[in-house]
Amino acid sequence: MRCSLPISSERRVLCVFPAYTPSFGTFAHAFRLMYRVRAFMPPQGLLLIAAYLPASWPVRFIDENIAPAKAADFAWADVVMVSGMHIQAPQMHDIAARAKAKGKVTVLGGASVSGAPELYPEIDYLHIGEIGDATDRLIACLDDSVATPSAQRRFETNERLPLSDFPLLAYNLIRLDRYLIGSLQFSSGCPYRCEFCDIPALYGRQPRLKTAEQITAELDAMMAQASHPPVVYFVDDNFIGNRKAAREMLPHLIAWQRKHDYPLQFACEATLNLAKQPEILALMREAQFLTVFVGIETPDADALKAMRKEHNATLPMMEAIKTLNSYGLEVTSGIILGLDTDTADSESRLKDFIDISGIPILTINLLQALPRTPLWDRLKRDGRLIADDSGLESNVRFLRPYDDVVATWRRCVAYAYDPERLFARFAHQVDATYAHRMIGPVRGKLTIPNLRAALVLAFNIALRVGLLSDYRRAFWRAAHHAFRRGQIDAVLGIGFVAYHLIEFSREALRGDQNASFYSTHKRERTLGAEPLRKSA
Ligand code: SF4
Repeated sequence: MRCSLPISSERRVLCVFPAYTPSFGTFAHAFRLMYRVRAFMPPQGLLLIAAYLPASWPVRFIDENIAPAKAADFAWADVVMVSGMHIQAPQMHDIAARAKAKGKVTVLGGASVSGAPELYPEIDYLHIGEIGDATDRLIACLDDSVATPSAQRRFETNERLPLSDFPLLAYNLIRLDRYLIGSLQFSSGCPYRCEFCDIPALYGRQPRLKTAEQITAELDAMMAQASHPPVVYFVDDNFIGNRKAAREMLPHLIAWQRKHDYPLQFACEATLNLAKQPEILALMREAQFLTVFVGIETPDADALKAMRKEHNATLPMMEAIKTLNSYGLEVTSGIILGLDTDTADSESRLKDFIDISGIPILTINLLQALPRTPLWDRLKRDGRLIADDSGLESNVRFLRPYDDVVATWRRCVAYAYDPERLFARFAHQVDATYAHRMIGPVRGKLTIPNLRAALVLAFNIALRVGLLSDYRRAFWRAAHHAFRRGQIDAVLGIGFVAYHLIEFSREALRGDQNASFYSTHKRERTLGAEPLRKSA
């Protein structure tokens, strides 16, 4: 539903979503292989707010991962609304400065300002927390006046809008074919309390849910565009945060897929104990889930216990990964280095884990303390938080020497993304995972935009990876393995993912990228895309 307040003024609202600093999860390098793709995923939060605003208020939506907002956009607006995560903080300040230069009132919402409002003293209005009563108070305030307030005002949500009342996202304001994958939210919140994670404090421990009808209506809205991404990512903090709800929603997703001849495939984030849910896994397979991002963090069970993530150790880790693979789910793994439990052996244990698990994509980051986490509180108590402007790769004073930790990160990234090893892990996935996927009817995917996109991708992979790269032999070995098993789709997937990972890791090893996903040590700003998150 939209905001139902009585409105007396018309306000032109410019929503600007900040660019991302590139990371392993942005896939930014792969965009040059693709037709029209310029960014990773449509931003859910700002598209939700855009849909909730009063119907009489004109809204313009700019995602700066695709193109920067122009001076004319700022000149048009009465209000400039921005939203983002901590990793986008410099870009959010920059957008606010451009808006202020045009004399516009600024509003900031989203995860970063909700966790650390003190980081944004220059913004006129702060929206803290999720959409809810604060949103209505903010809208009433803007309806009253768009003059710059004499002092910053904060609106904090006490009563959240139930997810079942969320309006359909404002897909009409964006072009979906500019994105690598679509995004969709089913639930918000996570029942666990991992020490480093801000999700429970920001979104609660009792997952709140949309209805199955909302989910299928959003898919219908995506399909209504002439061209849309072939894969949709469930951005839920933990897709199985409420197992019963996931079990009940999935049959509706399957029914929708059947009705439309399986036009889409899906991905999500979940905890590793998903492996203990065969019923959910079977449903996910049937709905055509391809990938699950799991915050494995570390292969060390004692370290998991120390960070309060024991739920990832309820099954032997390799067995759990094997189980997920057997349902056609490729696991993508988050890994953290710089933990208090790290020892001189951690590096070799991580390298063994990379080899044995056969997981191709690992986002290897340094530990970073986020506000509103138990980790932040503990390190603050112990005097181990480092000021943001330190120029270091993390705000954590590690127990091991800083240079050792960064050097370990460097060696692990080099090991993981050595082309021979990476393509060998992809070849492993061909048998361990891709062979177990359900083959749905191709009719739903046989569209002119899909065929055009596949042809452009195939040409660019053949040229840039198969012909011009210095890792073409390793690529063709993995491709040949997939071809022999009739997995032509997999060859395209392997090509574009590997291209990004190898190019990005080489930049990172040259020192052109950050060692930490949340690092305050920002490199030169470039247009990136939304990264895989670090939850679940
Ligand atoms: S890291 Fe994942 S499992 Fe842990 S609290 Fe955050 S969202 Fe939940």
